[in-house]
Order: sequence, then C-alpha cells, then structure tokens
Amino acid sequence: MLMTEIESPARKRIALVAHDNMKDDLLQWVLDHRESLASHDLVGTGTTGRLVAEHAQLDVTRVKSGPLGGDQQIGGRIADGTIDVLVFFWDPLEPQPHDPDIKALLRIAAVWNIPVACNRASADFIVTSPLLAGPYRRKVPHTA
Ligand code: PGA
Repeated sequence: MLMTEIESPARKRIALVAHDNMKDDLLQWVLDHRESLASHDLVGTGTTGRLVAEHAQLDVTRVKSGPLGGDQQIGGRIADGTIDVLVFFWDPLEPQPHDPDIKALLRIAAVWNIPVACNRASADFIVTSPLLAGPYRRKVPHTA
C-alpha cells in the first residue's frame, strides 16, 4: 500500500472510550494523570465523556454513546486524521451489543497507525511517554 506521513500535533487529540464495567478504571486513570491530560484535547463517547468531564473537571468533546454510534464517530475522526491517541478500555469479560463497532474502531485505529491503549498499563505507558508532549510524524495510508 502506498503510504505517506502526517503529523500528530504536540497538543494531542485523545479519544476516551470505556465499557460500563471499565468506566471506574478509566476514570481513575484520568484522575491519576489529570495534569498531563489537561494539556491535550479530549474526545469521549457519550457516557464516558460525561463522567470524565464531571469527575475530573476536564473539557471533553462528546460524541454519541458507544452503542448508539459513538464508536463509529470516533472511528470516523481517526480516519479523518483528527484523533491522535485512542484510550479504549473495552470489556474483555462481557459481550457487548455493539461488538461489530468495537472491532471496527480497533481496526481503523490500526489502519491509521495511532497509539491505542486497551488497559490501564498500556495507558500508563502512553501518557508518560515523552512522545506525547511533542509533535509526532506517523506513517498512514496515502489517499488520493
Ligand atoms: P459510552 O460508550 O461511553 O457512551 O458508555 C462506550 C461504549 O460502550 O462504546
């Protein structure tokens, strides 16, 4: 496939998505890294975004709730190049009604070569990476 490069800006656009059983984990992670996250732009699926905004007092742009199309909206933004990092705490122990959307979101994040954290340890590594604070050039598919 023909590839090109685009730049993720220093101020990252970070998407936050957590399934119901994982919301406490995500919220705790946000609170633990609140200072760092405050210097980036946050986008969240409906309920996740509301919880983060309320409990961490951070601005979060909200799309629809995940099962109502929010995962697809986040995926669309990734394809548009307007999301730089995906923190997606999906539930490994319980089936979800929107399983196809979950797969699609993970797939499109891989296609567009953005960092993805699906659990707390990965999210810790990403948020403490020196790469988060500066611009980052990443290889992406070339589109005519
Ligand atoms: P929610 O969506 O943040 O609106 O709960 C998350 C999901 O289930 O994908």
